[in-house]
Amino acid sequence: MKYVAEPFKIKMVEPVRITTPEYRREAIAKANFNGFSLSSDDVYIDLQTDSGTGAMSDAQWAGMLRGDEAYSGGRSYFKLLETAKELFGYEYIQPVHQGRAAEKVLLPILIKPGQYVISNTLFDTTRGHVTIAGGRAVDLASPIAKSTTEYADFKGDLDVDALGSFLSEHEASEVAAIVMTVTNNSVGGQPVSIANLREVYRIASDAGIPVVIDAARFAENAFFVKQREKEFAASSIREIILAMFECGDAFTMSAKKDGIVNMGGLVGVRSNQELVEKIGMNVIPNEGYLSYGGLAGRDLEALAIGLTESIEEDYLRYRIGQSEYLAARLDEFGVPHQRPVGGHGVYVDAGALLPHIPWNQYPGHALAIELYLEAGVRSCDIGSLLMDRNPETGEQQRAANEFTRLAIPRRVYTQAHLDVVAEALGAIKQRASEVPGYEILWETKVMRHFTAKLRPVAK
Ligand SMILES: *Cc1c(COP(=O)(O)O)cnc(C)c1O
Repeated sequence: MKYVAEPFKIKMVEPVRITTPEYRREAIAKANFNGFSLSSDDVYIDLQTDSGTGAMSDAQWAGMLRGDEAYSGGRSYFKLLETAKELFGYEYIQPVHQGRAAEKVLLPILIKPGQYVISNTLFDTTRGHVTIAGGRAVDLASPIAKSTTEYADFKGDLDVDALGSFLSEHEASEVAAIVMTVTNNSVGGQPVSIANLREVYRIASDAGIPVVIDAARFAENAFFVKQREKEFAASSIREIILAMFECGDAFTMSAKKDGIVNMGGLVGVRSNQELVEKIGMNVIPNEGYLSYGGLAGRDLEALAIGLTESIEEDYLRYRIGQSEYLAARLDEFGVPHQRPVGGHGVYVDAGALLPHIPWNQYPGHALAIELYLEAGVRSCDIGSLLMDRNPETGEQQRAANEFTRLAIPRRVYTQAHLDVVAEALGAIKQRASEVPGYEILWETKVMRHFTAKLRPVAK
């Protein structure tokens, strides 16, 4: 597997600290065995998330200085609107401070308590906001997403048969919305096909159910569509993005992913004026006036530029290439992972690598902690620790897969960094049976994985 060389050069560097295993052992214990509680100074290579961790370009930094800080009607706001409207083909664009803010201002308008929200798989903050609004989350991931070894072009798709059965057993009025997450983060950053988006949109429109696109990784999804969906082989990334967004009525977006900014988000509405007005009423008290939505003018400027950089094909080829390279190196060491690799990183199948750890001792988390101890690499659990307890019964919920996510920040790490990560996992595989499971000592009701305190289970 050849590494796709960077379509940029490095103009500024940020030193990182290399620590000893003894030092890390103490640091992680002090952090209650939760990577979110570590000081980032104690992390060498940070693959915890690709959210807000990307490197901005010189054009974006120049844009920061040109940002218009007017309270209302700023130049940078209009630049962002123009860019986003053209890219997504929606009439209304509202900046907000990040993806969950978009969820917070949109979802309570759509959801009446007790209604269902169906998804190809809700991301954890989206699930949180569905629950807070009184909705009931229903994930209908494609059955093949559960298998980490079988290849499928579009493992992120929604299971249309399951959607059909659900709608035959429930009134359409019981369903508040269908959320299509592109790419499907929780099943491994797997892409969603336009064919699936179209089919879901047709079914939803016939039933009068709105479709919301959770668009954090719209550009990566478009690149996969170009590579894998025949109809679009000759289309431009822009054309594919327009085709994707035609299959939705509204979108929420964390711009900290494919927007390549450190902070930002968007809500988009195709044309529903009533919905636009209600969103405005939620934005002003929560996020700030409509023309800045919780962001500084310079942030709006950087986002407008980031949106256009993230759809460049050379960039996307390199971007997806990093995930593919890391996956190929893991294959050399026989470390199992979700196949094919997703857009924003590699999801190691910790359940398969650590079969002695039961799901309710969180193999994905156990591997993440071990990887930190081994090489100072921070990653995170995308498995049963990430699942909150059932809000009605308080029972632990079991995830379909126990993953350790190696999320790759955009334009940040080099080929050699990825080699360090692969070699560390190779070393852990050699002593896999010694890796302990974890138990929770303290947790919150919603989004527990961010703050939970844990400890290794004594053998
Ligand atoms: C990151 C993310 C969110 C939440 O966005 P934040 O900017 O972290 O608030 C929502 N959905 C998906 C798919 C995401 O990846």
